[in-house]
Amino acid sequence: MTTGQCYCGAVTYQIEGDIDYIVHCHCRNCRRASGAAFYSAGFLAASQFSITSGEASVREFNFPENPDGARCFCGTCGGRLYIRLPMPGLINIAINTLDQEPDEDIGVHINVESKAPWDEIPEGRDQHNALPPDMLTHLRALMHTE
Ligand SMILES: [Zn+2]
Ligand SMILES: [Zn+2]
Repeated sequence: MTTGQCYCGAVTYQIEGDIDYIVHCHCRNCRRASGAAFYSAGFLAASQFSITSGEASVREFNFPENPDGARCFCGTCGGRLYIRLPMPGLINIAINTLDQEPDEDIGVHINVESKAPWDEIPEGRDQHNALPPDMLTHLRALMHTE
């Protein structure tokens, strides 16, 4: 069982199964929302994810460009937790909130055209100016893992 929590610990969650699709998103919105060079997101079927404590502390900020999706965070410490995606049944979690961290980086760098001017992606990493052509295929596969 994989578990995670926000910065203050008010919100904890657990995940069933493995996270095998991770992206590092360099878009301007993810950089602003996370306060970091990129947002590292592990995609999951929403049915694999459950909040184990502090659900009342979770706040949602709907995407201004698409109110069907929302950035979800802890209302006490402000720590980012996960994104509810506009594709129903699909979420991604901020992998830096995991208690058991992945030991290797399998992340695909996306929206690299919007990356911070000072940010350098290590050579040889899978990277795409916008979204990878196979991303939708990966996400659709996840949504059928009920
Ligand atoms: Zn918190
Ligand atoms: Zn983004």
